[in-house]
Amino acid sequence: MIRTSHHQILLLSRRMALGWCFLADFFDNVMVSGKVNVPRWCFLEPKCGSRGRCEPDWRLRLIASDVVVVGAGPAGATTAAHLADSGLHVSLLDKSRFPREKVCGDGLTPRTVRELVKLGIDFSSWKRNSGLRVYGGRVGVLELPWPAINEFPDFGLTCRRELFDQTLVNRAIQAGAEFFPETNVNAPILDSTSGRITGVKTTSDEEFCAPIVVAADGNSSRLATAMGINIKKNRPLGVAVRAYYRSTQSNDDYMESWLELWDGIPNRSKLLPGYGWVFPMGDGTCNVGLGMLNRSKAFKRTNFRALMQTWLLGLPQSLGFTEENRVGEIGSAALPMSFNRQPAYARGLFLVGDAGGMVSPFNGEGISYAMEAAHIAAETINDGYARGVGTDAAESALQRYPSRLKAEWGGYFRLGQFFATLISKPEVMRICTKYGLSRPALMKFTMKLLSHLYDTHAGDWMDKTISALARLAPAA
Ligand SMILES: Cc1cc2nc3c(=O)[nH]c(=O)nc-3n(C[C@H](O)[C@H](O)[C@H](O)COP(=O)(O)OP(=O)(O)OC[C@H]3O[C@@H](n4cnc5c(N)ncnc54)[C@H](O)[C@@H]3O)c2cc1C
Repeated sequence: MIRTSHHQILLLSRRMALGWCFLADFFDNVMVSGKVNVPRWCFLEPKCGSRGRCEPDWRLRLIASDVVVVGAGPAGATTAAHLADSGLHVSLLDKSRFPREKVCGDGLTPRTVRELVKLGIDFSSWKRNSGLRVYGGRVGVLELPWPAINEFPDFGLTCRRELFDQTLVNRAIQAGAEFFPETNVNAPILDSTSGRITGVKTTSDEEFCAPIVVAADGNSSRLATAMGINIKKNRPLGVAVRAYYRSTQSNDDYMESWLELWDGIPNRSKLLPGYGWVFPMGDGTCNVGLGMLNRSKAFKRTNFRALMQTWLLGLPQSLGFTEENRVGEIGSAALPMSFNRQPAYARGLFLVGDAGGMVSPFNGEGISYAMEAAHIAAETINDGYARGVGTDAAESALQRYPSRLKAEWGGYFRLGQFFATLISKPEVMRICTKYGLSRPALMKFTMKLLSHLYDTHAGDWMDKTISALARLAPAA
């Protein structure tokens, strides 16, 4: 394992640097870990300005670590934190300067809270919530507290992604990971004989090398694509839009879900296959948004920002979600679902979070799955290192990652694909809300199913039924 930090390498290189147009070539050693030889050196190159004046550029050109993690969202930062906790040297790279905004609903279900607890994150100042208030058009409203079960806490949270993601990055840094913001990865480095990934190149010509690389670079995962791991077109894909509005509802104890999405005046226009949300942020604003699945006919011709404004016009005016109360821009982004990029491990590359399409097709939740997958990836990588990275024994440990993920959520995601197809027909959605909402037991069951909050080993008949269905369904 590499223990020397790149700062030490940099320091040493700087001491060696003398004058203009300097090239410091520092060979610390050639690390031999298992079969993978990682040259561990860095050099500096001169940077010449337009007037021909050259100055030493202290940019590191090559950095070696045990693991390179690309992307510092929830997936990448959590992977880096768990790996660094166990003593591995991790380089965590992100193209953005942090803190950065990320278009999201900012809703953290009890699944995510459980992952935060594992990391020892202090969330005492974040807005807590007790459950979901569901609006089903004419049928009315139903309040569903988060289920009280053994495996998960019974509360959720909301937190703006600027703060949430920065908190996770800080946690990774505290554990010993080295964070490189504004570092845009544009290609994998491959071993010419085996085709394995041995690092990544950045747009500033830096190279980060490691026997294991994690792609946590989100939905479009340039890295996974460059490694030939492409999107499975037969998986559902969502698009969601959101904006913040000043609101008196900001301190509400419940997150809200609006199950009927009209493209005009409610009950007099077309019902669309999707749902809207209002998540109280506790800071005077609510995160308000809506999402739709690509399974429906309406999807391709939808202008999501316009739809958001139309939908808000149909909500009670007392809520105050008007243009005057909007804070910031309306943002939209894609939700890759149901393992839409596979395999999650190949030739030294792990996919974690949106890069591996780990958003739930039931409710569009992706943060908890990103963090849970990060934990599983970190355990697997540790196992690989313990066996001696580069050996056949290590490789078979690493290859267990996709099957572990599928064992966790494969059946559940498959059920979600079926659900996504079903609700893509607005009439089905309408019947479900009409008859379902008026039956509290059925809604409690639906809440457990949609939020993936049920006990897998014990629990009531609902938990047992959902667990059995998820076990029986073939993995996604
Ligand atoms: C509108 C909307 C609302 C949502 N609401 C919720 C919600 O309420 N609750 C929930 O649980 N989920 C929600 N999701 C899903 C959730 O946002 C994602 O599942 C989650 O962000 C996935 O985390 P990630 O770390 O995999 O990817 P991201 O959060 O996308 O992080 C990827 C990181 O990789 C970096 N990166 C990308 N390319 C490169 C590169 N070439 N080089 C270096 N770095 C790179 C990016 O800068 C980014 O920081 C929502 C999604 C949308 C679109």
